[in-house]
Amino acid sequence: MIIVMKPSATTADTKRIIKRIHRLGLQEHLSQGETQTIIGVVGDTQRIDRTAFEVLAGVERTVRITQPFKLASREFSPAPTVIDVKGVKIGGTQTVVMAGPCSVESRSQILETAHAVKEAGAQILRGGAFKPRSSPYSFQGLGEEGLELLAEASAETGLPNITEVMSPDEVSLVCQYADILQIGARNMQNYRLLQAVGKANKPVLLKRGLSATLQELLMSAEYILANGNYDVMLCERGIRTYERYTRNTFDINAIPALKQLSHLPVISDPSHGTGKWDLVGPVAKASLAAGADGLIIEVHPDPAQAWSDGAQSLKTGRFAELMTEIKALAAFLGRSL
Ligand code: PEP
Ligand code: MN
Repeated sequence: MIIVMKPSATTADTKRIIKRIHRLGLQEHLSQGETQTIIGVVGDTQRIDRTAFEVLAGVERTVRITQPFKLASREFSPAPTVIDVKGVKIGGTQTVVMAGPCSVESRSQILETAHAVKEAGAQILRGGAFKPRSSPYSFQGLGEEGLELLAEASAETGLPNITEVMSPDEVSLVCQYADILQIGARNMQNYRLLQAVGKANKPVLLKRGLSATLQELLMSAEYILANGNYDVMLCERGIRTYERYTRNTFDINAIPALKQLSHLPVISDPSHGTGKWDLVGPVAKASLAAGADGLIIEVHPDPAQAWSDGAQSLKTGRFAELMTEIKALAAFLGRSL
């Protein structure tokens, strides 16, 4: 069971409720967000009378949750979560497109890409500065210099940005430059990192692990929510199967399934989901038709020369063409873009 406190609830109200939880032989899990306090009641809660809590000072409502993920579940919030990133609303009736290179490589590369994706209609700029590469000999990202260049491109174009953070001790550094923190697939179950971004005050895009089930993805989201950060997006980016023609197997089922199970926005990554630039468009469109709230797409001015993920990156011109098709599809689906 979860007890949602009113925004006006005082510390004394919360303390009184925790005392009562203890008297019933149960434990509390306190989650303090910027605007609201949520108390999770841990233990055998079947026998508790919810109304006894609902009449107490400071309590807004109580919710009985059957799923192992609590704050992330639809039961907790039947209404969808809408995340506001500098005026871009993610999770509502708007379709959001995040686009940019896999990695920030140079000032000219990120600025050129940022202007091109903005011109085409993207609302968020992506670009990795800390890169989780399968080989230690591959380009690892420009680090803080990459963050500076990304922030410069954001300032110049007005596009908020998203970039990956790989380690708990780099969260505060990345927060100085990023508008959205990305947790990469390889770090989906790095619980210390999830706790750290859960304490940060930036929205988080959580990517599904290479072999993670939907429940595991939602339990990872729960770590972030339980640490007080409620602005979490879930991202399907393809999973590992026996198929080798594509880099990953994009799990289209994940999109409507996650929308059913959770109130959190769902973002599709057809670039990593396919690994092939010419499959990105069809899977992007399928994702929107399946109910995705947005897309994250890799775009590069010269994919053949890209320092990472060139094979799956769209040339800026092709991205603009895809955006025209996506706009028509969004309108058909009754969404704005
Ligand atoms: C990326 O977005 O460039 C990336 C590394 O993604 P993933 O973690 O999904 O592999
Ligand atoms: Mn990439």
